[in-house]
Amino acid sequence: MADGVYDVKDALPKVYERIEDRVDELVSLTCDLIRFPTVNPPGDAYQPCAEYIGKRLGNRGFAIEYVRAEGAPGDSDAYPRVNVIARREGKTAGPTVHFNGHIDVVEVGSGWTVAPFDAEVRDGKVWGRGACDMKGGLASAIVAVETLIDSDPDLPGTIEISGTADEESGGFGGVAYLAERGWFSRPRVDHVIIPEPLNVDRVCIGHRGVWWAEVETFGRMAHGSMPFLGNSAIRHMAAVMTRFESELYPALALRLSEMPVVPDGARQSTMNINSLHGGQAECEEGLPAPCVADSCRMIVDRRFLIEESLAEVRAEVVEILDKLVRDRPEFRYELRELFAVEPSIADRDGPVASATATAIRDVLGVEPSIVCSPGTYDQKHIDRIGKLDDCIAYGPGHLDLAHQPDEWVGIDDMTKAAKVMATVASRLLRREA
Ligand SMILES: [Zn+2]
Repeated sequence: MADGVYDVKDALPKVYERIEDRVDELVSLTCDLIRFPTVNPPGDAYQPCAEYIGKRLGNRGFAIEYVRAEGAPGDSDAYPRVNVIARREGKTAGPTVHFNGHIDVVEVGSGWTVAPFDAEVRDGKVWGRGACDMKGGLASAIVAVETLIDSDPDLPGTIEISGTADEESGGFGGVAYLAERGWFSRPRVDHVIIPEPLNVDRVCIGHRGVWWAEVETFGRMAHGSMPFLGNSAIRHMAAVMTRFESELYPALALRLSEMPVVPDGARQSTMNINSLHGGQAECEEGLPAPCVADSCRMIVDRRFLIEESLAEVRAEVVEILDKLVRDRPEFRYELRELFAVEPSIADRDGPVASATATAIRDVLGVEPSIVCSPGTYDQKHIDRIGKLDDCIAYGPGHLDLAHQPDEWVGIDDMTKAAKVMATVASRLLRREA
């Protein structure tokens, strides 16, 4: 190789060394991100968090754009859905590699033993809401990219990093909004990595589908002392649940996917009953309303496989309800669909998946697992709206810790993930993958 020509094989170890030198910076960046309490809902502190990322990358020569998702669910002047996109074009042409992280976190909940937004650093971990899902991953991507650019200023092609809103509530004010406006389509972008917490040795190529629906049964109100004069919506709902137990759940348990979904339990079709509300609410002192319930509502969260269609998923629930209309006197129901996402799966041999698998082998010395996620994430919008299928999730953090109290991310994991991400970006941009 001639003098002055960059040799990626010689250069990457240098990049790894520099990432190791920057571990303190990686930790402090993660802490800074956690300290923005970007809880969704309602979607707090998005703007300062996005501006913090924009300011940092702007200082590193990235062109920064802020896109507020005007009119998206939840967007208001009090809670603006602000997204940040940073773009750095190299001196020579090449593909575009995009790292996308959501900046929102789920509510705190109970059971914490550390302060959720203090970003405590202890035992080789950073603790706090969003540490694992996914501010640690976003920080790793930022440090990976910064280090790569410092080590290789002549890097061809374009790197983008985005911090986006509302992933935890469906991504409508974030990646979906941007995808609808061309931010996640060719020719602007070629490869996308989403540093969601899927464990540092796994490449996540997709996710199961989702169908959320509300079932409401109806009755007739009457005095609680004379229920025979009314008709209980709650008893009708109990009949629905009995059919779910005897017919639907056993059928779901038999359906196994070819998708490599983790954990194992999620390789089958699942349905959670998120909530059940029936009858009149108790008054403030907790005294019950002595009435027969005229309405009972249930929210179901059905997760389905690439082998199932959304139409079939819907139809099997409708069939159970319609059978009850025929079999059960005075049974009436309404079904309202709240949200649906088709399963999404990228080609495991596609450029970004195979480059990431190779980088895991090279950097970590382990055989990567190719997995699918039990829940959805923003890949669906990039795939379905952006029509960009070269998209995966890869990032530090243990999937099981997401959304839990005392969430943390391992500093060692973040460092490893940063090395892998720098390797993938370098090879894709130089078309060596
Ligand atoms: Zn996430």
